[in-house]
Amino acid sequence: MRLPTKLAAMAGALCMLAGAGANAQAASPATVLQGVRIIDGQGGAPIENGSIVIRDGRIEAVQPQGATPPAGARLVDLRGKTVMPALIAGHAHLGITNGAKSGAAEITPANVTRQLQKYARYGVGTVAVFGTDHDFIYRMRADQRAGKLTLPTIVTAGHGFGVPHGAPPVAMGMDQVYRPTTIEAVRKDIEKLAARKPDLVKIWVDDFGDDKTKKMDPALYREVIREAHQRGLKVVAHVYYLEDAKRLARDGVDLFGHSVRDRPVDAELIALMKEKNIGYIPTLQLDEAFFVYADKPDWMQDRFFRDALDPGVEAWLASPAYKVKQVSKQDLATAKANVLALHKAGVRVGMGTDSGATIPRIQGFAEHRELELLTAAGLTPMQALQAATSGNAAILGIDGERGALVPGKQADLLVLDANPLDDIRNTRKIHALWLRGVPLEGLR
Ligand SMILES: [Zn+2]
Repeated sequence: MRLPTKLAAMAGALCMLAGAGANAQAASPATVLQGVRIIDGQGGAPIENGSIVIRDGRIEAVQPQGATPPAGARLVDLRGKTVMPALIAGHAHLGITNGAKSGAAEITPANVTRQLQKYARYGVGTVAVFGTDHDFIYRMRADQRAGKLTLPTIVTAGHGFGVPHGAPPVAMGMDQVYRPTTIEAVRKDIEKLAARKPDLVKIWVDDFGDDKTKKMDPALYREVIREAHQRGLKVVAHVYYLEDAKRLARDGVDLFGHSVRDRPVDAELIALMKEKNIGYIPTLQLDEAFFVYADKPDWMQDRFFRDALDPGVEAWLASPAYKVKQVSKQDLATAKANVLALHKAGVRVGMGTDSGATIPRIQGFAEHRELELLTAAGLTPMQALQAATSGNAAILGIDGERGALVPGKQADLLVLDANPLDDIRNTRKIHALWLRGVPLEGLR
Protein backbone atom coordinates (compact mmCIF):
# COMPACT_ATOMS: atom_id res chain seq x y z
CA MET A 1 0.00 0.00 0.00
CA ARG A 2 1.55 3.31 -1.06
CA LEU A 3 0.25 6.23 0.90
CA PRO A 4 0.96 9.81 0.03
CA THR A 5 3.03 11.51 2.73
CA LYS A 6 1.60 14.87 1.80
CA LEU A 7 -1.88 13.71 2.69
CA ALA A 8 -0.88 12.69 6.17
CA ALA A 9 0.72 16.11 6.68
CA MET A 10 -2.45 17.73 5.45
CA ALA A 11 -4.52 15.63 7.79
CA GLY A 12 -2.38 16.87 10.66
CA ALA A 13 -3.01 20.42 9.54
CA LEU A 14 -6.72 19.68 9.39
CA CYS A 15 -6.72 18.60 13.00
CA MET A 16 -5.01 21.80 14.09
CA LEU A 17 -7.46 23.89 12.14
CA ALA A 18 -10.36 21.99 13.61
CA GLY A 19 -9.21 22.86 17.08
CA ALA A 20 -8.30 26.47 16.28
CA GLY A 21 -11.55 28.04 15.10
CA ALA A 22 -14.49 29.03 17.25
CA ASN A 23 -16.59 27.19 14.72
CA ALA A 24 -14.45 24.16 13.97
CA GLN A 25 -16.98 22.74 11.54
CA ALA A 26 -16.79 25.77 9.30
CA ALA A 27 -13.04 26.27 9.75
CA SER A 28 -11.79 22.86 8.70
CA PRO A 29 -11.51 22.37 4.94
CA ALA A 30 -12.95 19.33 3.27
CA THR A 31 -10.94 16.63 1.53
CA VAL A 32 -12.47 15.31 -1.68
CA LEU A 33 -11.55 11.95 -3.21
CA GLN A 34 -12.24 12.36 -6.93
CA GLY A 35 -12.72 10.08 -9.90
CA VAL A 36 -13.65 6.98 -7.94
CA ARG A 37 -16.08 4.11 -8.29
CA ILE A 38 -18.09 4.16 -5.09
CA ILE A 39 -19.56 1.02 -3.53
CA ASP A 40 -21.67 2.20 -0.60
CA GLY A 41 -21.70 -1.09 1.34
CA GLN A 42 -25.49 -1.10 1.46
CA GLY A 43 -26.10 -2.68 -1.92
CA GLY A 44 -26.76 0.56 -3.79
CA ALA A 45 -25.81 0.78 -7.46
CA PRO A 46 -22.13 1.75 -7.69
CA ILE A 47 -21.41 5.36 -8.62
CA GLU A 48 -18.88 5.62 -11.44
CA ASN A 49 -16.35 8.44 -11.47
CA GLY A 50 -17.88 10.00 -8.38
CA SER A 51 -16.40 11.86 -5.45
CA ILE A 52 -16.46 11.56 -1.67
CA VAL A 53 -16.33 14.67 0.49
CA ILE A 54 -14.73 14.16 3.91
CA ARG A 55 -14.64 16.68 6.72
CA ASP A 56 -13.56 16.26 10.34
CA GLY A 57 -13.14 12.51 9.90
CA ARG A 58 -16.64 11.99 8.59
CA ILE A 59 -18.24 11.58 5.21
CA GLU A 60 -20.00 14.81 4.34
CA ALA A 61 -21.24 13.92 0.89
CA VAL A 62 -21.11 11.22 -1.77
CA GLN A 63 -21.40 12.84 -5.18
CA PRO A 64 -21.95 11.75 -8.78
CA GLN A 65 -19.61 12.58 -11.63
CA GLY A 66 -19.31 16.30 -12.33
CA ALA A 67 -20.31 17.56 -8.87
CA THR A 68 -18.61 20.74 -7.73
CA PRO A 69 -16.33 20.23 -4.72
CA PRO A 70 -16.84 22.52 -1.71
CA ALA A 71 -14.90 25.79 -1.84
CA GLY A 72 -11.39 25.46 -0.44
CA ALA A 73 -11.48 21.66 -0.48
CA ARG A 74 -8.29 19.67 -0.91
CA LEU A 75 -8.66 17.47 -3.95
CA VAL A 76 -7.24 13.95 -4.09
CA ASP A 77 -7.15 12.43 -7.56
CA LEU A 78 -7.97 8.72 -7.30
CA ARG A 79 -9.06 8.20 -10.90
CA GLY A 80 -9.76 4.55 -11.67
CA LYS A 81 -9.84 3.41 -8.04
CA THR A 82 -12.76 1.80 -6.27
CA VAL A 83 -13.73 3.03 -2.80
CA MET A 84 -15.82 0.98 -0.38
CA PRO A 85 -16.27 1.05 3.40
CA ALA A 86 -13.30 -0.39 5.29
CA LEU A 87 -13.88 -4.05 6.10
CA ILE A 88 -15.30 -4.97 9.48
CA ALA A 89 -13.82 -8.19 10.88
CA GLY A 90 -17.01 -9.43 12.52
CA HIS A 91 -15.52 -12.21 14.64
CA ALA A 92 -11.86 -12.03 15.58
CA HIS A 93 -9.42 -12.41 18.46
CA LEU A 94 -6.47 -10.20 19.32
CA GLY A 95 -3.12 -11.13 20.81
CA ILE A 96 -3.58 -14.87 21.30
CA THR A 97 -1.25 -15.97 18.52
CA ASN A 98 2.30 -14.76 18.03
CA GLY A 99 4.31 -16.42 15.29
CA ALA A 100 4.08 -20.16 15.87
CA LYS A 101 3.19 -19.63 19.54
CA SER A 102 -0.21 -19.13 21.06
CA GLY A 103 -1.76 -18.77 24.47
CA ALA A 104 -2.78 -16.26 27.10
CA ALA A 105 0.84 -15.20 27.73
CA GLU A 106 0.95 -13.70 24.23
CA ILE A 107 -1.93 -11.31 24.94
CA THR A 108 0.07 -8.12 25.46
CA PRO A 109 -0.51 -4.52 24.31
CA ALA A 110 2.46 -4.82 21.92
CA ASN A 111 1.13 -7.98 20.29
CA VAL A 112 -2.40 -6.60 20.06
CA THR A 113 -1.07 -3.40 18.45
CA ARG A 114 0.99 -5.39 15.97
CA GLN A 115 -2.05 -7.43 15.00
CA LEU A 116 -4.26 -4.37 14.62
CA GLN A 117 -1.61 -2.97 12.27
CA LYS A 118 -1.78 -6.18 10.28
CA TYR A 119 -5.56 -5.98 10.01
CA ALA A 120 -5.12 -2.38 8.78
CA ARG A 121 -2.68 -3.53 6.10
CA TYR A 122 -5.40 -5.91 4.97
CA GLY A 123 -8.04 -3.23 4.69
CA VAL A 124 -9.86 -3.95 7.95
CA GLY A 125 -11.08 -0.80 9.73
CA THR A 126 -12.92 -2.41 12.64
CA VAL A 127 -12.11 -5.56 14.60
CA ALA A 128 -14.75 -7.21 16.78
CA VAL A 129 -13.15 -9.37 19.47
CA PHE A 130 -15.43 -12.01 20.96
CA GLY A 131 -14.66 -12.58 24.60
CA THR A 132 -10.93 -13.16 24.97
CA ASP A 133 -9.64 -9.65 25.63
CA HIS A 134 -7.62 -8.74 28.68
CA ASP A 135 -8.48 -5.54 30.51
CA PHE A 136 -5.83 -3.40 28.81
CA ILE A 137 -8.05 -3.47 25.72
CA TYR A 138 -10.31 -0.90 27.41
CA ARG A 139 -7.38 1.52 27.76
CA MET A 140 -6.51 1.03 24.11
CA ARG A 141 -10.12 1.60 23.13
CA ALA A 142 -10.24 4.78 25.24
CA ASP A 143 -7.02 6.06 23.61
CA GLN A 144 -8.54 5.30 20.25
CA ARG A 145 -11.71 7.21 21.03
CA ALA A 146 -9.59 10.13 22.24
CA GLY A 147 -7.81 10.15 18.88
CA LYS A 148 -4.48 9.04 20.37
CA LEU A 149 -4.33 5.72 18.55
CA THR A 150 -4.82 5.47 14.79
CA LEU A 151 -5.60 1.80 14.34
CA PRO A 152 -8.69 -0.18 13.38
CA THR A 153 -11.57 0.45 15.75
CA ILE A 154 -11.75 -2.06 18.58
CA VAL A 155 -15.16 -3.56 19.36
CA THR A 156 -14.78 -5.73 22.45
CA ALA A 157 -16.82 -8.27 24.37
CA GLY A 158 -14.21 -8.10 27.16
CA HIS A 159 -14.19 -11.40 29.03
CA GLY A 160 -16.82 -13.81 27.71
CA PHE A 161 -18.82 -16.48 29.55
CA GLY A 162 -17.87 -20.16 29.33
CA VAL A 163 -18.03 -23.42 31.24
CA PRO A 164 -15.65 -24.62 34.02
CA HIS A 165 -13.30 -27.27 32.55
CA GLY A 166 -15.21 -26.85 29.27
CA ALA A 167 -15.49 -24.39 26.43
CA PRO A 168 -13.58 -22.35 25.61
CA PRO A 169 -10.43 -24.27 26.62
CA VAL A 170 -8.08 -22.31 28.89
CA ALA A 171 -5.17 -23.81 26.95
CA MET A 172 -6.34 -21.97 23.82
CA GLY A 173 -5.62 -18.68 25.60
CA MET A 174 -9.09 -18.14 27.01
CA ASP A 175 -7.80 -17.71 30.54
CA GLN A 176 -9.90 -14.75 31.62
CA VAL A 177 -13.30 -16.03 30.61
CA TYR A 178 -15.95 -16.01 33.35
CA ARG A 179 -17.07 -19.52 34.21
CA PRO A 180 -19.95 -19.11 36.67
CA THR A 181 -21.82 -22.11 38.06
CA THR A 182 -24.72 -20.33 39.74
CA ILE A 183 -27.18 -17.58 38.83
CA GLU A 184 -25.73 -15.49 41.65
CA ALA A 185 -22.23 -15.83 40.15
CA VAL A 186 -23.56 -14.83 36.72
CA ARG A 187 -24.95 -11.62 38.20
CA LYS A 188 -21.66 -10.77 39.92
CA ASP A 189 -19.66 -11.46 36.77
CA ILE A 190 -21.97 -9.43 34.56
CA GLU A 191 -21.67 -6.56 37.00
CA LYS A 192 -17.87 -6.67 36.77
CA LEU A 193 -18.02 -6.89 32.99
CA ALA A 194 -20.58 -4.12 32.57
CA ALA A 195 -18.54 -1.76 34.76
CA ARG A 196 -15.87 -1.83 32.06
CA LYS A 197 -18.39 -0.92 29.37
CA PRO A 198 -17.89 -3.66 26.79
CA ASP A 199 -19.50 -3.30 23.37
CA LEU A 200 -21.27 -6.65 23.63
CA VAL A 201 -21.27 -9.95 25.58
CA LYS A 202 -19.92 -13.32 24.39
CA ILE A 203 -21.14 -16.75 25.49
CA TRP A 204 -19.77 -20.19 24.67
CA VAL A 205 -22.50 -22.70 25.42
CA ASP A 206 -21.57 -25.95 23.68
CA ASP A 207 -19.08 -28.81 24.12
CA PHE A 208 -16.67 -27.94 21.27
CA GLY A 209 -17.55 -31.30 19.70
CA ASP A 210 -16.37 -33.28 22.74
CA ASP A 211 -19.28 -35.16 24.32
CA LYS A 212 -17.28 -35.70 27.52
CA THR A 213 -17.37 -31.94 28.08
CA LYS A 214 -20.32 -30.30 29.78
CA LYS A 215 -22.41 -27.74 27.92
CA MET A 216 -23.47 -24.57 29.67
CA ASP A 217 -26.61 -24.90 31.79
CA PRO A 218 -29.29 -23.01 29.82
CA ALA A 219 -30.44 -21.38 33.07
CA LEU A 220 -27.04 -19.71 33.31
CA TYR A 221 -26.91 -18.35 29.79
CA ARG A 222 -30.51 -17.20 30.05
CA GLU A 223 -29.41 -15.14 33.01
CA VAL A 224 -26.43 -13.76 31.05
CA ILE A 225 -28.79 -12.74 28.24
CA ARG A 226 -31.32 -11.21 30.63
CA GLU A 227 -28.70 -9.21 32.53
CA ALA A 228 -26.95 -8.11 29.33
CA HIS A 229 -30.18 -6.92 27.76
CA GLN A 230 -31.05 -4.97 30.89
CA ARG A 231 -27.82 -3.07 30.30
CA GLY A 232 -28.45 -2.56 26.61
CA LEU A 233 -25.77 -5.06 25.56
CA LYS A 234 -26.16 -7.53 22.71
CA VAL A 235 -25.20 -11.16 23.28
CA VAL A 236 -23.25 -13.18 20.72
CA ALA A 237 -23.12 -16.96 21.02
CA HIS A 238 -20.60 -19.47 19.81
CA VAL A 239 -22.71 -22.07 18.05
CA TYR A 240 -22.34 -25.34 16.15
CA TYR A 241 -25.47 -27.45 16.73
CA LEU A 242 -28.89 -26.66 15.26
CA GLU A 243 -30.68 -27.54 18.50
CA ASP A 244 -28.48 -25.12 20.50
CA ALA A 245 -29.11 -22.41 17.92
CA LYS A 246 -32.86 -22.83 18.22
CA ARG A 247 -32.78 -22.79 22.01
CA LEU A 248 -30.54 -19.70 22.03
CA ALA A 249 -32.80 -18.00 19.49
CA ARG A 250 -35.85 -18.67 21.66
CA ASP A 251 -33.94 -17.45 24.69
CA GLY A 252 -33.12 -14.09 23.12
CA VAL A 253 -29.54 -14.26 21.83
CA ASP A 254 -28.79 -11.42 19.38
CA LEU A 255 -26.27 -12.99 17.03
CA PHE A 256 -24.50 -16.21 16.21
CA GLY A 257 -20.72 -16.00 15.89
CA HIS A 258 -20.43 -19.15 13.76
CA SER A 259 -22.41 -21.35 11.38
CA VAL A 260 -24.83 -24.08 12.30
CA ARG A 261 -22.82 -27.04 11.02
CA ASP A 262 -24.22 -30.31 12.35
CA ARG A 263 -27.22 -30.27 10.01
CA PRO A 264 -29.13 -28.06 7.59
CA VAL A 265 -30.94 -25.10 9.12
CA ASP A 266 -34.69 -25.69 9.19
CA ALA A 267 -37.83 -23.60 8.87
CA GLU A 268 -38.14 -23.26 12.64
CA LEU A 269 -34.70 -21.68 13.07
CA ILE A 270 -35.19 -19.45 10.04
CA ALA A 271 -38.53 -18.22 11.39
CA LEU A 272 -37.05 -17.56 14.83
CA MET A 273 -34.07 -15.65 13.42
CA LYS A 274 -36.27 -13.50 11.21
CA GLU A 275 -38.83 -12.82 13.91
CA LYS A 276 -36.16 -11.83 16.44
CA ASN A 277 -33.80 -10.16 13.95
CA ILE A 278 -30.88 -12.41 14.92
CA GLY A 279 -27.65 -11.86 12.97
CA TYR A 280 -25.52 -14.64 11.55
CA ILE A 281 -21.74 -14.56 11.14
CA PRO A 282 -20.85 -17.84 9.43
CA THR A 283 -16.99 -17.98 9.82
CA LEU A 284 -16.58 -20.32 6.83
CA GLN A 285 -12.84 -19.77 6.82
CA LEU A 286 -12.59 -21.24 10.32
CA ASP A 287 -13.90 -24.56 9.02
CA GLU A 288 -11.62 -24.39 6.00
CA ALA A 289 -8.58 -23.57 8.16
CA PHE A 290 -8.95 -26.95 9.87
CA PHE A 291 -7.91 -28.80 6.69
CA VAL A 292 -7.07 -26.59 3.73
CA TYR A 293 -3.37 -26.03 4.47
CA ALA A 294 -2.65 -29.76 4.12
CA ASP A 295 -4.03 -29.59 0.57
CA LYS A 296 -1.50 -26.86 -0.33
CA PRO A 297 -3.80 -24.82 -2.62
CA ASP A 298 -2.11 -22.55 -5.17
CA TRP A 299 -3.07 -19.42 -3.26
CA MET A 300 -0.63 -20.40 -0.50
CA GLN A 301 2.05 -19.15 -2.91
CA ASP A 302 0.39 -15.76 -3.37
CA ARG A 303 2.15 -12.81 -1.83
CA PHE A 304 -1.13 -11.64 -0.36
CA PHE A 305 -1.30 -14.83 1.72
CA ARG A 306 2.40 -15.10 2.47
CA ASP A 307 2.63 -11.51 3.68
CA ALA A 308 0.00 -12.32 6.31
CA LEU A 309 2.06 -15.13 7.85
CA ASP A 310 3.97 -14.42 11.03
CA PRO A 311 7.52 -15.83 11.12
CA GLY A 312 7.39 -19.58 11.73
CA VAL A 313 3.78 -20.08 10.69
CA GLU A 314 4.55 -21.50 7.24
CA ALA A 315 6.74 -24.19 8.81
CA TRP A 316 4.15 -24.78 11.54
CA LEU A 317 1.41 -25.39 8.95
CA ALA A 318 3.64 -27.97 7.23
CA SER A 319 4.48 -29.72 10.51
CA PRO A 320 2.60 -32.39 12.50
CA ALA A 321 1.51 -29.61 14.89
CA TYR A 322 -1.10 -28.71 12.23
CA LYS A 323 -3.70 -31.42 12.71
CA VAL A 324 -6.24 -31.87 9.95
CA LYS A 325 -9.81 -32.16 11.23
CA GLN A 326 -11.61 -34.28 8.66
CA VAL A 327 -15.11 -33.45 9.92
CA SER A 328 -14.49 -29.81 9.01
CA LYS A 329 -14.78 -30.65 5.29
CA GLN A 330 -18.38 -31.71 5.85
CA ASP A 331 -18.89 -28.82 8.28
CA LEU A 332 -17.79 -26.34 5.59
CA ALA A 333 -20.17 -27.84 3.03
CA THR A 334 -23.05 -27.67 5.51
CA ALA A 335 -22.09 -24.16 6.57
CA LYS A 336 -22.04 -22.94 2.96
CA ALA A 337 -25.50 -24.35 2.29
CA ASN A 338 -26.79 -22.89 5.56
CA VAL A 339 -25.54 -19.35 4.97
CA LEU A 340 -27.14 -19.34 1.54
CA ALA A 341 -30.45 -20.64 2.91
CA LEU A 342 -30.49 -18.05 5.70
CA HIS A 343 -29.44 -15.22 3.40
CA LYS A 344 -32.14 -16.11 0.86
CA ALA A 345 -34.71 -16.21 3.66
CA GLY A 346 -33.79 -12.66 4.64
CA VAL A 347 -31.66 -13.27 7.74
CA ARG A 348 -28.94 -10.65 8.12
CA VAL A 349 -25.55 -12.19 7.36
CA GLY A 350 -22.23 -10.76 8.51
CA MET A 351 -18.59 -11.51 7.72
CA GLY A 352 -16.28 -13.02 10.32
CA THR A 353 -13.62 -15.68 10.47
CA ASP A 354 -12.56 -16.22 14.09
CA SER A 355 -9.16 -15.06 12.85
CA GLY A 356 -6.46 -14.87 15.47
CA ALA A 357 -8.04 -17.50 17.76
CA THR A 358 -5.54 -20.14 16.64
CA ILE A 359 -2.41 -20.19 14.48
CA PRO A 360 -4.07 -21.41 11.21
CA ARG A 361 -6.65 -18.61 11.33
CA ILE A 362 -4.53 -16.01 9.59
CA GLN A 363 -5.60 -12.47 10.46
CA GLY A 364 -6.21 -10.22 7.47
CA PHE A 365 -5.95 -12.94 4.87
CA ALA A 366 -8.83 -14.86 6.46
CA GLU A 367 -11.21 -11.93 5.99
CA HIS A 368 -10.58 -11.74 2.23
CA ARG A 369 -10.77 -15.50 1.89
CA GLU A 370 -14.10 -15.41 3.76
CA LEU A 371 -15.47 -12.99 1.17
CA GLU A 372 -14.46 -15.46 -1.54
CA LEU A 373 -16.05 -18.36 0.38
CA LEU A 374 -19.28 -16.40 0.81
CA THR A 375 -19.45 -16.01 -2.97
CA ALA A 376 -18.60 -19.70 -3.40
CA ALA A 377 -21.58 -20.38 -1.12
CA GLY A 378 -23.83 -18.48 -3.50
CA LEU A 379 -23.85 -14.84 -2.40
CA THR A 380 -23.03 -12.29 -5.08
CA PRO A 381 -19.87 -10.19 -4.65
CA MET A 382 -22.11 -7.23 -3.76
CA GLN A 383 -23.87 -9.28 -1.06
CA ALA A 384 -20.56 -10.50 0.34
CA LEU A 385 -19.29 -6.92 0.54
CA GLN A 386 -22.51 -5.89 2.27
CA ALA A 387 -21.99 -8.66 4.83
CA ALA A 388 -18.51 -7.33 5.60
CA THR A 389 -19.64 -3.71 5.92
CA SER A 390 -23.22 -2.62 6.59
CA GLY A 391 -24.25 -6.17 7.54
CA ASN A 392 -21.64 -6.49 10.25
CA ALA A 393 -22.26 -2.94 11.42
CA ALA A 394 -25.97 -3.64 11.92
CA ILE A 395 -25.37 -7.01 13.57
CA LEU A 396 -22.80 -5.56 15.97
CA GLY A 397 -24.85 -2.42 16.65
CA ILE A 398 -22.24 0.00 15.30
CA ASP A 399 -24.15 1.07 12.20
CA GLY A 400 -24.65 4.60 13.48
CA GLU A 401 -20.94 5.23 12.90
CA ARG A 402 -19.67 2.69 10.43
CA GLY A 403 -20.23 0.24 7.61
CA ALA A 404 -21.52 2.45 4.79
CA LEU A 405 -20.37 5.29 2.57
CA VAL A 406 -23.15 7.70 3.39
CA PRO A 407 -23.09 11.20 4.87
CA GLY A 408 -22.50 11.31 8.62
CA LYS A 409 -20.58 8.04 8.97
CA GLN A 410 -16.98 7.83 10.07
CA ALA A 411 -14.73 8.07 7.00
CA ASP A 412 -13.19 4.58 7.21
CA LEU A 413 -12.53 3.80 3.56
CA LEU A 414 -10.89 1.00 1.64
CA VAL A 415 -9.38 2.16 -1.67
CA LEU A 416 -8.87 -0.63 -4.19
CA ASP A 417 -6.98 -0.82 -7.48
CA ALA A 418 -9.66 -3.01 -9.08
CA ASN A 419 -13.40 -3.56 -8.87
CA PRO A 420 -14.44 -6.32 -6.41
CA LEU A 421 -17.84 -6.58 -8.11
CA ASP A 422 -16.03 -8.04 -11.15
CA ASP A 423 -14.10 -10.53 -9.02
CA ILE A 424 -14.38 -10.65 -5.23
CA ARG A 425 -10.64 -11.33 -5.01
CA ASN A 426 -10.08 -7.75 -6.13
CA THR A 427 -10.57 -6.74 -2.47
CA ARG A 428 -6.96 -7.95 -2.18
CA LYS A 429 -5.70 -5.21 -4.52
CA ILE A 430 -5.43 -2.70 -1.71
CA HIS A 431 -4.30 0.80 -2.59
CA ALA A 432 -4.93 2.47 0.77
CA LEU A 433 -6.94 2.37 3.97
CA TRP A 434 -8.32 5.60 5.36
CA LEU A 435 -9.38 5.69 8.99
CA ARG A 436 -11.40 8.63 10.29
CA GLY A 437 -10.69 10.53 7.10
CA VAL A 438 -6.92 10.07 7.17
CA PRO A 439 -4.88 7.66 5.03
CA LEU A 440 -2.77 5.32 7.14
CA GLU A 441 0.96 5.70 6.68
CA GLY A 442 3.82 3.26 6.63
CA LEU A 443 1.87 0.06 7.07
CA ARG A 444 3.53 -1.84 4.27
ZN1 LIG B 1 -14.00 -16.82 18.41
